[in-house]
Amino acid sequence: MPSTGNKLCSSCGLCSVREWPAEKSVLSCVFRNGWLGEREKKLFGRERSLDDPFEMRFGITTERFTAQLKKPLEGSQWSGIITRMAVRAFEENIVEGVVSLRRSPDEHFFSIPVLADNRDEIYRTRGNKPVLSPVLRSLETAWQRGMKKILVIGAACHMHALRDFQERFDYLREMEIFTIGIPCVDNVARANWRWILERMSRSPETARYMEFMQDFLIHIGHADGSVEKVPFFSLPQELGNPGIFPESCMSCFDYLNSLSDITIGYLGAELIEGEKMQWVLVRTPKGKMLIELLKEELARCPETGEWECRKFVLKASKGIMENMQAIDREYSKKRKIPVWLGQLMAAMLRLSGPKGIGFAHYSVDYHLIRHYYYVKFRFPDMLETLVPRHVPEILSEYGLPI
Ligand SMILES: Cc1cc2nc3c(=O)[nH]c(=O)nc-3n(C[C@H](O)[C@H](O)[C@H](O)COP(=O)(O)OP(=O)(O)OC[C@H]3O[C@@H](n4cnc5c(N)ncnc54)[C@H](O)[C@@H]3O)c2cc1C
Ligand code: SF4
Ligand code: SF4
Repeated sequence: MPSTGNKLCSSCGLCSVREWPAEKSVLSCVFRNGWLGEREKKLFGRERSLDDPFEMRFGITTERFTAQLKKPLEGSQWSGIITRMAVRAFEENIVEGVVSLRRSPDEHFFSIPVLADNRDEIYRTRGNKPVLSPVLRSLETAWQRGMKKILVIGAACHMHALRDFQERFDYLREMEIFTIGIPCVDNVARANWRWILERMSRSPETARYMEFMQDFLIHIGHADGSVEKVPFFSLPQELGNPGIFPESCMSCFDYLNSLSDITIGYLGAELIEGEKMQWVLVRTPKGKMLIELLKEELARCPETGEWECRKFVLKASKGIMENMQAIDREYSKKRKIPVWLGQLMAAMLRLSGPKGIGFAHYSVDYHLIRHYYYVKFRFPDMLETLVPRHVPEILSEYGLPI
């Protein structure tokens, strides 16, 4: 990728496009323009309300619910709502191609950007690739081929750059673009992926998927179908080092992808053994149109869970602040606590801790507190540009210093 001169970069792929100058692409970078703010206003006609605690965390939505495909799609991350929606949009001729990722043939967890323009190729985009991924590079192919209607599936940094670029320059202005967003946090640079996986899993070679789940365990699925469950609290201390994550992802303030037409995740859905419930946040009329395509295929349920999670966030926040401030801290290879104790704590939290939208509330607040102090202590000159205005509001709800 050409040098962008940006301090922070999540390798979203826009600056790798050769059909237009990288100097133009970089002007649309979220790490230069900041998260949400004007972009949110341009998309919705207003910024999120600071008087609405749900909107402050989840962004502007017209509808939120939980759902799963009645027939889950094998090989997808959860039930496969995203991939099925993409296929249906293609079949209905709503879009001519899908800008997304497929798996690298060399490393199961790595991605290759793709413009998928047939059903099989779209199906091949399914499943997570938990590494920084240059999704937007394929915009170039769509542009070269003169496509007029495309779907882009990506994380929040992709959506910010895409929306800004489409508005700022002529190249994509005539294209009708639909977007499906994934929630995204703690993504990983390719160079660090193996190191991290080896410290989480007993069998990194057979690992096929990994998720930080609502039961406070990391679920690592293996090739033989078994699922290894590791408590968050028992990870080696060195995995608590913020330095192992990309600086861009530690400076990210849009976990729930608020500029997408529709966000499809799982964190606001309750975890039920044997089910693959997902969380759907419809944001725009285009998002509504996309989810309507699956009307017959979805089992839908209302959101569940208690909103309140204050004591859990407050309990975590002191440790977060200390950790973000201690820039030169040495991290030990030892586990924070033994696995049996971690399992016990996770089991207790499953009984008494936040669930459903309460878990989403907790997780969003936890990460925005962490990222605020990361930027404050490591990139103080970028604090004003990067941090959206709801973040200090939420910090002050907890009495945390700005
Ligand atoms: C690093 C990372 C962290 C995540 N963290 C959370 C979380 O904390 N909470 C939560 O609810 N959800 C999170 N997700 C999203 C979640 O894992 C699922 O992708 C989502 O719920 C959709 O499930 P599905 O079965 O509908 O997806 P599928 O039908 O399998 O489709 C997934 C789509 O996402 C695309 N994709 C995969 N990896 C990337 C990537 N790195 N960048 C851009 N696009 C990608 C795929 O190519 C595919 O198009 C995360 C995803 C990633 C990559
Ligand atoms: S994040 Fe994207 S737009 Fe920003 S510098 Fe990196 S490649 Fe360019
Ligand atoms: S955590 Fe944020 S910056 Fe990093 S890949 Fe995900 S959306 Fe982009």
